[in-house]
Amino acid sequence: MPRDKHPVSRNDISKNALKVLYRLHNSGFDAYLVGGCVRDILLGIQPKDFDVTTNATPEQVKSLFRNCRLIGRRFRLAHVVFGKEIIEVATFRGHHADDADSKSSKKNQHAHSDEHGQLVRDNVYGTIEEDAERRDFTANALYYNIADFAIYDFANGVEDINKGVLRLIGDAETRYREDPVRMLRAVRFATKLNMQLDTAVRDPIPELASLLANIPPARLFDEFLKMFMSGKATANFSMMMELGLFQQLFPMLKGHLSDAQSPAYQMLLKAFKDTDKRIAEDKRVTPAYLVAVLLWWPLLARKEQLENEGGLPPMDAINIAAADVVHRQSQRVSIPKRFSLPAREIWQLQRRLQVTKGGRAMKALEHKRFRAAYDFMLLRSHAEPEDKKLAELAQFWTEAQNNPTKLKTGKSGAPTRKPRRRRRGPRKKKPQSNSDNGSA
Ligand code: ATP
Ligand code: MG
Repeated sequence: MPRDKHPVSRNDISKNALKVLYRLHNSGFDAYLVGGCVRDILLGIQPKDFDVTTNATPEQVKSLFRNCRLIGRRFRLAHVVFGKEIIEVATFRGHHADDADSKSSKKNQHAHSDEHGQLVRDNVYGTIEEDAERRDFTANALYYNIADFAIYDFANGVEDINKGVLRLIGDAETRYREDPVRMLRAVRFATKLNMQLDTAVRDPIPELASLLANIPPARLFDEFLKMFMSGKATANFSMMMELGLFQQLFPMLKGHLSDAQSPAYQMLLKAFKDTDKRIAEDKRVTPAYLVAVLLWWPLLARKEQLENEGGLPPMDAINIAAADVVHRQSQRVSIPKRFSLPAREIWQLQRRLQVTKGGRAMKALEHKRFRAAYDFMLLRSHAEPEDKKLAELAQFWTEAQNNPTKLKTGKSGAPTRKPRRRRRGPRKKKPQSNSDNGSA
């Protein structure tokens, strides 16, 4: 598509990306913008980053830019760094040396794939046509050439974008087996771009969803963030539930989500809606809060089990259960400590906030996670409207924030401790509230 047939203008492209494109071009290399950024500009969406692809090798790219570092796990890439903005420059990816006969010979195909058909080695350079074939969706295989400002569309991506259908390049099942994360990407792009999943894209997913178990948990955490922290959490959640993908990422939640009316389901839904709303309003969001919500029901189940079987006091049971569920979850989707620790504080505070009087209550109010814990309590109360005690407690803390003198009396009908005579000498550790009945 020549420049006069498409709307992608250099004004839509980041200055830094243009610098990279021009320097490559002026040094005699091919240089294209590729992938999500071209797609997004065609859709009138502001791209969140700009990716460049070229026939220069990573080493050649490095020699052209002082501010360049080479990275690479499965595939070597150059990052050209401009302060906060990083322009990723990838060399055209080719077919594997054995791809030519891979259709006739299963043995060769497996030379680079594991027993599930997943690509384990993926580091061959190639031509732009080969590069296009390796991309996932047709809408993602569009190239904007800095040499003539034309868009090169190798898989009818422009037509699919105009029709609003998300289509995989090649055979869907094969592409999912090569990289099961593409199933998650299908959902994410459908909601982000407001596109329909082509039936060939949609139909194999329920059957193949379990292949996500073969993806490294750290990569799935990255996908989790994109899925639930980009303003489309609610839509992604319901589509993932429909296709059986959510259950794969959070296997411990399976039993809690079979009924859309269940408190767990309602709590998750509300948390996702709140997250989307906050993002739409440009407010801060943290994955720690979602982690706390997602694992709350498994946490309660494990805590009860520990209390019943091991006779543990509630706070100990919470702490051990927290460590257990975070550990189990991390086998599938890893949760960095910087998010799991705050989640655990939110859980602990659910119990500490049952004390509504005196120095301990005051301390809870001043805790750096108080606000998150309070929001979390409101969310619990929303999910379990028939729990009147919880509603009263939430109401108490709503008022106490504006009027901390309440903490002197602990009045609002919320559970409080009976006045006790002061003692001298060391105290024995005791549970902090009179309602030890499982609500945390
Ligand atoms: P966004 O940045 O909005 O999430 P994107 O399409 O730019 O969307 P990236 O993950 O940034 O997605 O990837 C850039 C491009 O690399 C994609 O457009 C696609 O062409 C290709 N790509 C990324 N991941 C895969 C994959 N798993 N399989 C095949 N191609 C992929
Ligand atoms: Mg991108």
